Amino acid sequence: MVLDTATLRVAFGVMALVLGLLFYFSAYRYTRSPYSGWWCLALVFFLAGSAAFLLNGTAHQWWANTLGNVLLVHGGVAVWAGARSLRDLRPRRWLFTGLPLVTLVATAVDDPGTDVWAGGAVFLAAMCVTMALASRELWRLEPGYSRVRVPMAVAAAVMAVFYFGRLVYFVLEGPDGPTFATFFGSAGTTLVTMVLLVVVSFSMAALSTEQQTRALRMVATRDDLTGLLNRKAFLDMVTELLNDRAVTQGTGALILADLDNFKAVNDTYGHAAGDVALQAFAGACRDTVRSTDLVGRYGGEEFVLLIPGASAGRAEKIAEEVSRRLAQVPTADGLQMPTVSYGVALYDAGTSGLEDLIAAADRALYAAKSLGRNRTVHSDRLS
Ligand code: GH3
Ligand code: MG
Ligand code: MG
Repeated sequence: MVLDTATLRVAFGVMALVLGLLFYFSAYRYTRSPYSGWWCLALVFFLAGSAAFLLNGTAHQWWANTLGNVLLVHGGVAVWAGARSLRDLRPRRWLFTGLPLVTLVATAVDDPGTDVWAGGAVFLAAMCVTMALASRELWRLEPGYSRVRVPMAVAAAVMAVFYFGRLVYFVLEGPDGPTFATFFGSAGTTLVTMVLLVVVSFSMAALSTEQQTRALRMVATRDDLTGLLNRKAFLDMVTELLNDRAVTQGTGALILADLDNFKAVNDTYGHAAGDVALQAFAGACRDTVRSTDLVGRYGGEEFVLLIPGASAGRAEKIAEEVSRRLAQVPTADGLQMPTVSYGVALYDAGTSGLEDLIAAADRALYAAKSLGRNRTVHSDRLS
């Protein structure tokens, strides 16, 4: 059976067009994520490049063939740039313009008017490089990123290996050689590309949705002003942790923090300055705690920290450190950072509910306020 290249290219073009439109309307317009944008662009390049090759054998071959090579290489670069954007990295400019430019020159000087394989070795090498780079970027994503990164990385790696095989046999035996013609010719390539395009488009669509879910979850659990956990997210996470603790028998400390005379900060320096102080306090907490600790904005100028494994002494050290950092934050317009009062309650295997724990910390905080503010009080030292 001989596969007809022109027919396959038309089928490929129709498929790329449909995928591109579907992808544009279902993913890019909806999420505006850079990688779905790059993937749409890559599809456009592949589509336009393949369309240009349809003019092979006509009087337009000399420019259409050159353009086709350049567009396909651009498509490869766009795939790589999309993979890179998943790690929030920008495409490297030298690759973006350099590879297509080299391909352009190599094709143009190689008689593209009569030879449909003009610049073939450079074109194949460029495609191999972009696909290998895309695969590398996808492997380098953190493992928790998404399950679909694996089929995408494999698809790009398969493509890189396939183009490497094409390059090797193109150089060894030329485009008319038996192995090249049978396995690595235009018809075979179009077929392989079609299959991989489906794999990648499917994975990309899944990734878009996952990305959006992540983003929404982030918005739903964070306090806008400080970026800390909001009250609900904090309580949910602590409840989960305390339930788990039933198995692990862990201990730890819950610290409630309330900025002192904060109303006066607002009244003296204005609400915007008050917001700056709240953000500075959040920053001081973040800089002090470990990644396994939880920090949330409990409401207004009141914050809550959960420090698993902490003793009373360690909780006190943490509170001191947060206050020390807050006092050192540089401020504009004479703003004086407020001091902070802390109430600490310890939990252990016998602690039943979160409500009791927070109530105990709140009583300690109230005592800290009554004793003159800017101090830490432990709930077990209340009479
Ligand atoms: P105390 O030492 O007893 O805690 O006194 P306080 O003034 O800190 O306590 P009070 O509860 O009287 O005032 C809290 C103030 O916090 C009042 C409120 O306007 C302010 N506040 C709450 N949320 C925000 C916010 O998001 N931004 C700003 N700028 N102020 C806030
Ligand atoms: Mg206060
Ligand atoms: Mg308060």
